[in-house]
Amino acid sequence: MRWCDRPRRGFLSRFPTLYTSIVDAEIIAIGSELLTPYKQDTNSLFLTERLNPLGIEVRFKSVVGDRRSDLVSVARIALSRAGLIIFMGGLGPTEDDLTRECVAEALGVELRRDPDLIAGLYKRFARFGSSMTPNNERQADVLAGAEVLPNPNGSAPGQFLRTLSAGHEVMVVLLPGPPHELKPMFDAEVAARLRSRNQKEFIAGRHLRVAMMGESLCDSRIAPIYTRHKEVETTILAGAGDISLHLRARAASQALAEQRVDTLAEELEDALDEHVYSSKGESLEQVAGYFLQLRGASVAVAESCTGGLISERITSVPGSSRFFLGGAVAYSNELKSQFAGVSPQMLEDYGAVSPQVARALAEGIRARCGSTYGIGVTGIAGPAGGTAEKPVGLVYHAVADGKNSEVVERKFLGDRERVRAWAAQQALDMLRRRLMKQ
Ligand code: AMP
Ligand code: MG
Repeated sequence: MRWCDRPRRGFLSRFPTLYTSIVDAEIIAIGSELLTPYKQDTNSLFLTERLNPLGIEVRFKSVVGDRRSDLVSVARIALSRAGLIIFMGGLGPTEDDLTRECVAEALGVELRRDPDLIAGLYKRFARFGSSMTPNNERQADVLAGAEVLPNPNGSAPGQFLRTLSAGHEVMVVLLPGPPHELKPMFDAEVAARLRSRNQKEFIAGRHLRVAMMGESLCDSRIAPIYTRHKEVETTILAGAGDISLHLRARAASQALAEQRVDTLAEELEDALDEHVYSSKGESLEQVAGYFLQLRGASVAVAESCTGGLISERITSVPGSSRFFLGGAVAYSNELKSQFAGVSPQMLEDYGAVSPQVARALAEGIRARCGSTYGIGVTGIAGPAGGTAEKPVGLVYHAVADGKNSEVVERKFLGDRERVRAWAAQQALDMLRRRLMKQ
């Protein structure tokens, strides 16, 4: 099976009703703010990361605003198709916190106000030196038959209920929306309850990452392989110079599931050869940083069109001070000379966007910073500034180590953001390959 980061033909047909023995989960994020352009549902990513190793597949995710009829309808749909439903958000004390009532309505169960929880709420307010308004008592409403999940970081407790719906067993979980409340509650309360079920299937996953390869070339190499391994689900996500291959297998034991993904991962790595830079999902800068440390080496960067992107990526790796010395965003010609020692004559003769200047940036910044490696990048990110001879998207990348300087010319397609992203990826990949060859 192959998915991409954009919907394609037959997208929906990829969700057949195959999985009966495995728990199919539905995550429902509740809150009108999650339907605006300003706030994203991030909790579901955390939950999915936690659920998969428990053998639980997230089949559906919904985001719904704080509107009663919408919430009840989403809950009813989930109850008809999922074995585990996690509702998050809308558990607070205010009028727009409707999750408890709406889930109760969809399930057809009563809510009972728990006196111990009410007492706990009053105590909590007293601890913070304030008096509690009566609307807070709504947070003590519990679905009939549900267990209460304590929330050490907030006032709204969670709930866990095992029940029957549409003739199948369903687990219903209610968690508060704030991530700093939801995450510890899932780990402390929900995970163990899910683990204690009779698990019949197990899931294993691998995340291979591939640098500087077109999506179609990559797929033409690997499609004959992954289509033979029908027991593993392969998802391809393509970014700028970066392809992620997510492999997932289910089996009756964890060991068998692991073996299935490993077998396919090895075959894919062979087919893609040095383009694969990671088999556990690490980023290119993490891998380059790892090898720099392994070799006791350091790097400095002189960036023109990438404007600091390469330095930003390298320094996003914790501990990068051990291998990143610094560098310069050398945008103007004057500063290319001042910061990296590129000669004004060279700039005059060849132009700022040229293999000679890329090389001089890499060699110059290396010499000035005293690093093992120097990286230089110069190009035309667009949308203006292109000529017939030097079109938008033309970028020169160089890596110098004091003995050899390698320069690569690339013509990238796409807008300014994409050209810059590709260029940063290319430069980091040149460094990574150089380090791996040693
Ligand atoms: P709640 O009062 O439980 O509805 O949630 C309150 C806070 O949690 C708000 O700041 C929300 O934006 C945040 N929040 C709620 N749901 C999510 C979610 N799915 N992902 C990330 N943040 C969320
Ligand atoms: Mg809310």
